[in-house]
Amino acid sequence: LSSSKEQFDFFYFVQQWPGAYCDTKQSCCYPKTGKPSADFSIHGLWPNYNDGSWPSNCNLDSVFDKSQISDLISNMEKNWPSLSCPSSNGFRFWSHEWEKHGTCAESELDQHDYFQTALNLKEKANLLQILKNAGIEPDDEFYSIENFSEAIKEGTGFTPGIECNKDSARNSQLYQVYICVDTSGSNFIECPVLPRSRCDDQIQFPKF
Ligand code: 5GP
Ligand code: 5GP
Ligand code: 5GP
Repeated sequence: LSSSKEQFDFFYFVQQWPGAYCDTKQSCCYPKTGKPSADFSIHGLWPNYNDGSWPSNCNLDSVFDKSQISDLISNMEKNWPSLSCPSSNGFRFWSHEWEKHGTCAESELDQHDYFQTALNLKEKANLLQILKNAGIEPDDEFYSIENFSEAIKEGTGFTPGIECNKDSARNSQLYQVYICVDTSGSNFIECPVLPRSRCDDQIQFPKF
C-alpha cells in the first residue's frame, strides 16, 4: 500500500469568504483574537483524485501537534481563522484539517510543510486583489458566476471552482473558491475535475 509515492492526484486549495460563512441562518463566531480582516481565509488544502472522489483520515496515528507549527501560528491566526461556534483559537479547526486531509498528503508534506504550503498558496493567490482588479468587490452586489471565474482565471492563470451557499434570505452567494495545485503543493494547475458549485447564475458577494 505504501509502495507508491503519491496516494492522490492533486490538491484543492480552498479559501472561504468570511462574509458568506457568517451571514447564513447558522451564523458564525469570531475567533478569540477578534474579528478577522475582510479578506478570504484558508479553509483547507485537500488531496483529491482525478475522478472527483477523495481520501480522508489516512493516518490515525498522526495527530495534530501544535509544537510542530509554533513558528506559523501568528500567520495562521490571521490567514486561517476559524469562524465556527463557539468562538475558538483555531486549534480545533487546524487539527480537524490535518487529521482529515493533511494525513492523506503525508507522502509529500510533513505537518509543518503542509501548513506552510497552504500559507504560501494564499500569498500566491490574492483573491481579493484579483477580484478588485476586475471591478468585483464585496459590496452586496450580484455578479454572474462567470465574472468570478474569468477574473480568477485572469489573475492565477487557471479556472477555479466556485462554491456557493445561501444567506439567511436564501440568496445564492460566493462562499468558497477552489484552486487546483499539483501534488508538490507548489504549482497551480488546471483542475482535473471541478467541485460541485451549487451556485445560481447570479450570485451575491456579501460584505463582511
Ligand atoms: P460538504 O459536504 O459540506 O460539501 O463538505 C464537507 C467536507 O467534505 C468538507 O469540509 C471537506 O472536508 C470535504 N469535501 C467536500 N468536498 C470535497 C472535495 O471535492 N474534495 C475533498 N478532498 N474534500 C471535500
Ligand atoms: P454525498 O455523496 O451524499 O454528496 O456525500 C455524503 C457525504 O460523504 C458528504 O459528507 C460528502 O462530503 C462525503 N463524500 C462524498 N464523496 C466522498 C469521497 O469521495 N470521499 C470522502 N471521504 N467523502 C465523500
Ligand atoms: P471540512 O470537514 O469540510 O474540511 O471542515 C469543516 C469542519 O471544520 C466542520 O466541522 C466545521 O464546523 C469546522 N470549522 C471550524 N471553523 C471553520 C470555518 O471557519 N469554516 C468552515 N467552513 N468550517 C470550519
